[in-house]
Amino acid sequence: MPCYFTFDRLLSKLIEENKGSINGLRSHQSICGSLDYANLFYANTKRSFDMKRAENKVVIVTGGASGIGRETCLLLAKEGAKVAITDIENKAGQELAEEISLSGGIARFWHMDVANEKEVEQVYADVFKAFGKLDSVVNNAGIAGTDKATHELTENEWDEVMNINVKGVFFCTKHAIQYMKKSGAGSIVNISSVYGMLGAGDIPPYHASKGAVRLMAKNDAISYAKDNIRVNSVHPGYIWTPLVEKLGEGIEGFREQLDNLHPIGHIGEPLDVAYGILYLLSDESKFVTGSELVIDGGYTCK
Ligand code: NAP
Repeated sequence: MPCYFTFDRLLSKLIEENKGSINGLRSHQSICGSLDYANLFYANTKRSFDMKRAENKVVIVTGGASGIGRETCLLLAKEGAKVAITDIENKAGQELAEEISLSGGIARFWHMDVANEKEVEQVYADVFKAFGKLDSVVNNAGIAGTDKATHELTENEWDEVMNINVKGVFFCTKHAIQYMKKSGAGSIVNISSVYGMLGAGDIPPYHASKGAVRLMAKNDAISYAKDNIRVNSVHPGYIWTPLVEKLGEGIEGFREQLDNLHPIGHIGEPLDVAYGILYLLSDESKFVTGSELVIDGGYTCK
């Protein structure tokens, strides 16, 4: 026993000194001669150091082929998740799935238009069959829509945004519930925006849609808490993605204008948001539901 005690203390000291990297500890096993004990300690400690943040989680990401969705798929796969990339952009989605597989991650692409309930229903059934469970959904697919004042907007322009940004989140949450209940728990993340918290005097349907999914998250958080299903919203400031690039077409100094909107001095990048999503999908956030995670470089501080 004294020998184990000394060995234990020695290993703890080595781990502290190595700050997470315990390769090399094996060479110290001979100190005590208790190889079994050392191997067990090494295996347990190494397991906890190696544990990835989304290990074995099955996640559906909507609009996963571009921008924030794409970066989220890459990060989740790197953190051990099995990722169902869904989008209407088939080529980019397929290529992303291949990129992840080639790097040793697990991902598959499914064509899925979030505004088409039949398609959502079918793809969810396929994902559940392919991966055996469903832990999380990232309701990310969204469009900015037409930038006109409310009195100039047509019904079609209004509906186009609502169908994707709101009805899409409704369909993708509705069909997730049965699979999450079967899986025993779940985490749903609605990608809203700072435009879902305050006005900016532009793109009215987009503001309305992002405000809607913010509150849908809170209401669903209450409804499904008893089923161990958490629902949260994420509120990015401006993030440099193809969606934002498109908004700035023909506007000189557009990126600099956006930089100046954020007290931190610059626009965000997709990975800034992906890390927030990863947190909300991981077990690190097990007590977090109905919350609003603002990732905006200080945009909403003013
Ligand atoms: P993005 O680069 O345009 O990526 C969105 C992806 O969703 C695209 O591949 C898009 O395809 C796809 N998509 C569009 N309609 C769809 C549908 N009906 N079904 C399935 N997929 C569809 O946009 P992003 O900037 O990464 O935005 C992602 C989310 O973050 C959106 O909900 C957006 O509102 C939100 N957000 C973005 C920012 C920002 O500054 N970028 C800030 C706050 C919130 P297409 O290219 O064919 O449209």
